[in-house]
Amino acid sequence: MKGLYIHIPFCKSKCKYCGFFSKSEYDDDLIEKYLNQVINLIDKFDDFEFHTMYVGGGTPSVIPYKILDNFFSKLFKKISPERIAEFTVEANPESLSEDFLYVLKNYNVSRVSLGLQSMDDRVLKYLGRIHSREQSVIAVKNVRKILTDAALNLDFMYDIPKVDESTILKSLKDIVKLNPEHISAYSYSFDTDFLSEKYEVQKTSYLKVKHFLERNNFKKYEISNFAKNGFESVHNKIYWTMQEYLGVGAAASSMILYNGKRVRFSFAKNIFSFINTPYITDFEIVLDWGELLKEDLIFGLRMLDGVNIKKVTDRYADKVENFLEKCDKLFQENFLQIKGENLCLTEKGELFLDYVQQFLWEL
Ligand code: SF4
Repeated sequence: MKGLYIHIPFCKSKCKYCGFFSKSEYDDDLIEKYLNQVINLIDKFDDFEFHTMYVGGGTPSVIPYKILDNFFSKLFKKISPERIAEFTVEANPESLSEDFLYVLKNYNVSRVSLGLQSMDDRVLKYLGRIHSREQSVIAVKNVRKILTDAALNLDFMYDIPKVDESTILKSLKDIVKLNPEHISAYSYSFDTDFLSEKYEVQKTSYLKVKHFLERNNFKKYEISNFAKNGFESVHNKIYWTMQEYLGVGAAASSMILYNGKRVRFSFAKNIFSFINTPYITDFEIVLDWGELLKEDLIFGLRMLDGVNIKKVTDRYADKVENFLEKCDKLFQENFLQIKGENLCLTEKGELFLDYVQQFLWEL
């Protein structure tokens, strides 16, 4: 499997906590120039055969629908639609127009991901979001009305400083009532990169969120992702299972395989440089077996099924046993467990994932 990620770095306004690269100063002309450069660069990777596509941001739904239509028509001259197993587009409620959704329908978008975060207007305002609960309800209705065959993901945020847990869990209940197929649940403090308030949360609601979703038929398949049966995101699993993806756009990152090595690179975080002379930053080649194994474990442990020990042993032979011996402390302290043939996190490990990942990386 190979994934294509296209980054749209435009947002109507910046949310208070945002850790993503996006700008709120833009116009139609800039968007068009940016999308043309995306097409030019995809053209350079014409030997790549993509199986999934993901248009994220930023806020893709700020793209005027005619510009989006033109962009997709050029894109599908480069990419064969019949090979695409999943095509996701992100959107925000305040900018998701019916015209935009009809364009998604015309290009067989199979998954829409809406950034709701909360269903409480006061919390939305506090987060710096510019949509309302009512706009979220309308956006969901419109997705269902127009994209009748598409799956729907709703983003939800918990552990928000100064917001009590009951308010947060009520929002989660309301989001479940909207009947999506998939929910991504992110901790404000740990997942948003909003460091200044990182230590304000003393305890996390993660397990309450997880258990509530599980009782409502959303199975956790990755630490932050919950899906009804058959609706796990194919594209996102590419990241966690170390398969190849090409990220195109300002600040977008890629990982491609070359002779068993992992080659990673990112485009610079600058819209104008991306349009004029896109350049690569953070170029890195991972060669060393120790780092490859650590990456396999660190990413794989995010998944419910964890890491298949036989598979990694086939790849790294007796080095795996030595490595697992060094992880003994993580087993002793109940962060890791062996389930059947797999190495997985315990619930305690889920709560302390950052610690587990750091421990493994420093071995
Ligand atoms: S909408 Fe998303 S990408 Fe845009 S500013 Fe808010 S959090 Fe950041």
